[in-house]
Amino acid sequence: MAGDTSPVRERLETERTRLLDEIAAVEIEPPEPMTYGSQAAAASQVFDQNRARALRERAERELAQVDAALARLEAGTYGLCPSCGRPIDPERLEALPWALYDLECQRKAR
Ligand SMILES: [Zn+2]
Repeated sequence: MAGDTSPVRERLETERTRLLDEIAAVEIEPPEPMTYGSQAAAASQVFDQNRARALRERAERELAQVDAALARLEAGTYGLCPSCGRPIDPERLEALPWALYDLECQRKAR
């Protein structure tokens, strides 16, 4: 990517820190099978745990994407779609700095 990449790097680093905080903030408690007061409490705890796990998994996935984008920035391949080799629309990168594929390849991947 031509030009100054430091604003992008800064955004990615900020996002990375935010995601690490988010992951650290999600506490997944080990299950305590016999200590539930009631079926409802048990169900609610399972629900909370599942929600916490889902939140954390999403944050970890995003973190992996941010890390990959930082690696591409280092390698000088940032902003190029690894599938078709075309530059990714700058507006797309503005909205989603860790986007890996251009819109067309992203659509095909789904
Ligand atoms: Zn592509």
